[in-house]
Amino acid sequence: MLAPVRPSACPGLLRIVPALDGGICRIKLPGGVLRSAQARAIAEAAQQCASGVLELTNRSNLQIRGVLPGQESTLIDALLGAGLGPRVAAADDVRNLLLSPAAGLDPHMRMDVRPLASQLLDLLQDTPALHALSPKFALQLDGGEALAMREHPHDLWLAAEDETHLLLGLAGCPSDAALARVEVTQAVELVRQLLLLFLELATPEQARMRQLLAHIPAAADLLQRLQTRLDFPLQPVPARWQPGADVERAPAGIYPQAQSGLRMVAAGAQLGRLHADQLLAIAELSERHGDSELRLTPWQGLLLGNVPEAKAGELLSALAELGLLTQTDEPLLGLVACTGSAACARGLADSKQHALQLAERLRENGARPQVHLSACPRSCASARVQPYTLLASTPEHYQLYQRTPEVPGFGRLLAPDMTIDEAGAWFARQHPAGTPDA
Ligand code: SF4
Repeated sequence: MLAPVRPSACPGLLRIVPALDGGICRIKLPGGVLRSAQARAIAEAAQQCASGVLELTNRSNLQIRGVLPGQESTLIDALLGAGLGPRVAAADDVRNLLLSPAAGLDPHMRMDVRPLASQLLDLLQDTPALHALSPKFALQLDGGEALAMREHPHDLWLAAEDETHLLLGLAGCPSDAALARVEVTQAVELVRQLLLLFLELATPEQARMRQLLAHIPAAADLLQRLQTRLDFPLQPVPARWQPGADVERAPAGIYPQAQSGLRMVAAGAQLGRLHADQLLAIAELSERHGDSELRLTPWQGLLLGNVPEAKAGELLSALAELGLLTQTDEPLLGLVACTGSAACARGLADSKQHALQLAERLRENGARPQVHLSACPRSCASARVQPYTLLASTPEHYQLYQRTPEVPGFGRLLAPDMTIDEAGAWFARQHPAGTPDA
C-alpha cells in the first residue's frame, strides 16, 4: 500500500499538478529506460485520461500533459499497473539518477554502470531517511560514454575512472574537480553515508548540495566528516584522470555500439514533445528492430539500442516518418523551449511556437545555433546554460544572452529587445551556413 504523497509544487506520478492545459503527471524512469509494454501503457493512458501530449524531460523522464479533471486516479492506477511507480509513495520524488542513454552499449564506456545504477536506485527507494531529500536533489553516474551529457549540474556525481574505480564529485558535473576515489564495490555505502550526512548537516533552506557547501568552509571538511563514517579509505584522485568529452549537440542518427554487429539509433523529439500515437509506434519499432527498450535522453530525445546493423537504416527512416528528428543538421535539434504562455501561467511569450518560427528562419538561412527559449527567468527547460538564451521580455520580444564563463546565469546580454525574426537574422550573421555550431 502506498503511503501518502508529500506536498510539493513539482509534478510526480502520484502528484498531478495543474497547468493551463490540464494536469501534469511526471513519470521517473530508472536510468531513463522505458520498456515497450510500459510505453504502450503510458500512451494509452495519455489518450484516455489526458490530451495525448507527452513531454520528454531534460532528466530523461517523461511527463503526461493535459490530464483531464476527474481522470487522475484512473491515470495513476494505469501507470502503477505498468510497473512505473515507486515502491513506496515517499520514494517517488527521490528517484533522480541520470545515466548516459548509451550506458552499457557505448564503445567508449569505461564501465557498464547499469548494475550500480540499479543498486543506487534501490538505496534511494528502500532507505526511508533518504525520502526527505528534495525532489530536485539528483545524482549522476558517468560511465565514460561518448554519448553523454556531463554538463548537467547535479548534487553528487560519480564518474568511472576504469572498470573498477569511481571518482566522486559534489554540486557540479564530471568536468569539475573530483574530490575522492573509491572502489566500485564501495559506491553504494559511500552514497548512503554521504546523503545521510547531507541530511544531518543541511538546514531546511539548504535543499541542494551547493547550498550546503556555500555554508561550510570547504568541501574537504565534508569529506573528512564522511571519512569518519566509512570503513574504507577515500583515496586521492589520480592526477592523470580526465572526464569524457561532452556532447554539445543533441544526437541523431546511427551510432556504433560496443557489442559486435549492433548499433544505437538516436532521434530528437520536436521541442521535447511526442504525441501518444508516436509513442505507440516507437514501442512497436523497438520490438521489431531493437531490444524492446526505449532509452530517453537528456536532450529530450530517444535512443534505441541493440539494433542489428542491417536494420539500423530502416529504423532511422521509420523514426523520421513518425516525425522524429533524425538529421543532425535539423535546426530544431539545436533548440530547447519551455512550455511557454500557451500552457504555463508564468510564461510571458509562447516560446514553443516561437521556437518553431525560429527553426523556420534558420532552415532558410542555414545557421545552426544552440538556443534556449525561456518564457520566464525560471529556465525550466534546460538544466545547463545553453550557448545562447532568448529570454522573453514581452509576448513578442526576447532578450538575447550569450553564455560566457565571466558572467553567471545566462551570460552576457547581447540584445535587450529582439523579435524572433530579428533573432533569426542575427544568428544568420553570426553563424552563417557551413560554420561550426555555437
Ligand atoms: S521557464 Fe517559466 S514560463 Fe517556461 S515553463 Fe518554466 S515557469 Fe513556465
